[in-house]
Amino acid sequence: MHPLRTLILAAGANDAVRRLVATAPVARDVVARFVAGETADQAVTVTRTLVDGGLSVSLDYLGEDTTDRALAEQTVQSYLLLLDRLHAEGLAGHTEVSVKLSAVGQALDERLALDNASRICAAAEQCGTTVTLDMEDHTTTDSTLRVLAEVRRSWPWVGAVLQAYLRRTLDDCVALSGAGSRVRLCKGAYAEPEGVAYADRHEVDLNYVRCANALLSGNGYPMFATHDPRLVSVISERALWYDREPGSYEYQMLYGIRPDEQRRLADSGEAVRVYVPYGEQWYGYLMRRLAERPANTAFFLRSLVGTA
Ligand SMILES: Cc1cc2nc3c(=O)[nH]c(=O)nc-3n(C[C@H](O)[C@H](O)[C@H](O)COP(=O)(O)OP(=O)(O)OC[C@H]3O[C@@H](n4cnc5c(N)ncnc54)[C@H](O)[C@@H]3O)c2cc1C
Repeated sequence: MHPLRTLILAAGANDAVRRLVATAPVARDVVARFVAGETADQAVTVTRTLVDGGLSVSLDYLGEDTTDRALAEQTVQSYLLLLDRLHAEGLAGHTEVSVKLSAVGQALDERLALDNASRICAAAEQCGTTVTLDMEDHTTTDSTLRVLAEVRRSWPWVGAVLQAYLRRTLDDCVALSGAGSRVRLCKGAYAEPEGVAYADRHEVDLNYVRCANALLSGNGYPMFATHDPRLVSVISERALWYDREPGSYEYQMLYGIRPDEQRRLADSGEAVRVYVPYGEQWYGYLMRRLAERPANTAFFLRSLVGTA
């Protein structure tokens, strides 16, 4: 892993750095670029702006790796409240939610995570929207796919996430490319051992294209989550090749990253969904985004010392 990336991810676990970031006034602007806010109200405000601009949204209530039943329950309640708000505001048609199973109890007990995810899916159905189960590190992949299979028995529209950096993912894409299957394909965001994941970025990109072909040639609904300009152009070419109409697949990007490209794709008639995180636990998420891109980090560090 790049040394700067390692350093930033380490800072993500450091309490002193966390306090500095949370209190430095200019840093708040940087946080606001990537995170919608700490409350459901703030998330709804950002969502409305994006939806009014012709984009769809997936909202993520930040938090992960819960080892406390009460916290897992609090996360479920936050999603239920959010879904109610989206419905009341008339936003549910264009806004789904993304859920990390580790935030609803997966590390404690897979059954608890399944029950909690089911409660969120049932509420999403009532509100007229959908849920995607985020994918986390490779030690959770089998468990997450088991929970996915189980919730899809009642709610077949539940979205899966597959990570192109994992060597297993092409097989998973083929298995999940059937009719109606919503699958988000991303590169993958965790530090994984070479035994299970491609270490070389070029290998990851090649596997992304192989997986995209598998999804586009199937009968499901692929969701291509990437900011990579080369991959975006390969996907649009492959979609034409497979006679995919815009709207039979979608592009997904993170809130605050390449907003002009999100606009350009939507203006050209493509379906584009923006992944919008919110909640009090924004710090770890922010550090992962900064670790991905040195230019963001330089800007962020300058803002912390007041020169940006
Ligand atoms: C909607 C969405 C959902 C996701 N869900 C998950 C998940 O459930 N599990 C998971 O492990 N990961 C998830 N990810 C994260 C993903 O796995 C990657 O870590 C992240 O998207 C970076 O990969 P990338 O494809 O954008 O390519 P990268 O290799 O990071 O970037 C490729 C190129 O994209 C452009 N680019 C990237 N960032 C920027 C920027 N800030 N500004 C301008 N250009 C930029 C640059 O040209 C860069 O060279 C998700 C990502 C998205 C977009």
